[in-house]
Amino acid sequence: MSNPNERFNRITPSERVLMGPGPSDVSARVLQAISAPTIGHLDPEYLAIMDETRGMMRRLFRTRHEMTMAISGTGSAGMECCVVNLIEPGDEMIVCVNGVFGTRMKDVAERCGAVVHPIELAWGQSFEPDAIAQALKEHPNTKVVGIVHAETSTGAHQPLEEITQIVHDSGALLLVDAVTSLGGMDVRVDDWRIDAIYSGTQKCLSCPPGLAPVSFSPAALEKIQNRKTKVASWYLDVSMLAQYWGSDRVYHHTAPINMTYALHEALRIILEEGIDARIARHTLNHRALRAGLEAMGLSYIPPRSLTTLNAVHVPEGVDDAGVRKRLLNDFGIEIGAGLGPFKGKAWRIGLMGHASTKRNVLLVLSALETIMADQGRSVARGEGPAAASAVYETKQAVPA
Ligand SMILES: *Cc1c(COP(=O)(O)O)cnc(C)c1O
Repeated sequence: MSNPNERFNRITPSERVLMGPGPSDVSARVLQAISAPTIGHLDPEYLAIMDETRGMMRRLFRTRHEMTMAISGTGSAGMECCVVNLIEPGDEMIVCVNGVFGTRMKDVAERCGAVVHPIELAWGQSFEPDAIAQALKEHPNTKVVGIVHAETSTGAHQPLEEITQIVHDSGALLLVDAVTSLGGMDVRVDDWRIDAIYSGTQKCLSCPPGLAPVSFSPAALEKIQNRKTKVASWYLDVSMLAQYWGSDRVYHHTAPINMTYALHEALRIILEEGIDARIARHTLNHRALRAGLEAMGLSYIPPRSLTTLNAVHVPEGVDDAGVRKRLLNDFGIEIGAGLGPFKGKAWRIGLMGHASTKRNVLLVLSALETIMADQGRSVARGEGPAAASAVYETKQAVPA
């Protein structure tokens, strides 16, 4: 029974500085775009917005792939969409596992009926091309190789240029998770001949969570067209989605209209800044943060760090949860905790999209210094921010 006297208050979320593994800060422009009037998903005005959004996604992916679109759902929906369409039950797939998201891709592939050959590596490490070549030699019937470009759980960057060559030489297709790299690091779908790729809106695109940009190469589409079995997911069936995103405009499911507005505005912001300038900004802020953290005695976990996510060891004797709690309560800053083998042992500091700024770098360094000093750590006050500032002073050295 409902109580007529019951009152529900308006929600009042605090403004945070989102420096975790995602979501990242969303700009006022994007929040404004999302509040525009909701119109029909077949309204000619909406279709025009879709087309433009698609065109901008192609630019960001640096691809001419016709089959580029936004899946309704978060990054994981993009992952499922790619796998469920590419894999037929019994297909062999190599999945590179060195963190949470490789593990998730393996799980998704198994659920789709793939015979998965995982290549496992210690968390934090990146794969050497030889490991992929070896696995392909052992499993010559492999149809798809799946790999994470930016492993958000460990901060490890995975170079792809050599791997793509090896995968294509074997006749397999390359599937890439670019959730934490797209919009912050170099992602070149055509140059690197990536056959299927997915991302998410709430990491370096600085949009609320809810859409997953994906792109499929003609070779990937050919495999999908030649399937002998129906795609197990009705919602994520690319051939059906293509009829809505293409000129036929066949109703499939109602598009998340206002989320598309948000993505459209986020992409406009990215292209206004320029993709290369944006990548350079992420590189610079990462270098400054890194210099600051290292000056404070913190060390990075991965040998090859992302610029969009900085994973460092929690120093011996420091109260991990206590530090994160004070960052949130006293400074409004969210950073990420460690996952899996790094639970309680890592901090993951995101510098993604709109949140990758000099202001945030200096803020988080100062806040960490204050909190660690309060915890009795002997940190020389001001060293972290000073080391970061020194990087900004020599920024001319960074190629734009
Ligand atoms: C965040 C993330 C995902 C999953 O995205 P969701 O939006 O949380 O569903 C997948 N892969 C990587 C590398 C991620 O960082």
